[in-house]
Amino acid sequence: MKGSCLCKEIVYEIDSLDMPIMHCHCNTCRKAHSAAYAPTAGVKREHFRWLKGQEFLASYESSPGKLRHFCKLCGSHLMAERAGQPHVIVRVATLDEDPGQTAKAHIWVSHDAPWLSPEGAERYDQWPEPGA
Ligand SMILES: [Zn+2]
Ligand SMILES: [Zn+2]
Repeated sequence: MKGSCLCKEIVYEIDSLDMPIMHCHCNTCRKAHSAAYAPTAGVKREHFRWLKGQEFLASYESSPGKLRHFCKLCGSHLMAERAGQPHVIVRVATLDEDPGQTAKAHIWVSHDAPWLSPEGAERYDQWPEPGA
């Protein structure tokens, strides 16, 4: 399966998701992704490779030893890793193909910000109809 950043300059490929998809609600992911949570999954290092655009990668060390890699052109977060761990953490919202599974868990919900709760919000296929 392939994944890419918003501007498509960086493309990566994974052979499989080796851990379940989990939505991480921690404060660090909230800030890094500017979102209520970050969908993540562990992938063994040997099952992950960059295909294109590595020269556009930048990284931020959000806690000691943890590097969050993102595209310095468009800002998309693609992958995070800790040196020495056998797997990397793929930001699965950047996949361009359906991995055939959905999230198993929400983690770090103790960090939830109340104003980001999706509960009770109306849903529209696109923009709301005028007057709705
Ligand atoms: Zn990009
Ligand atoms: Zn997190």
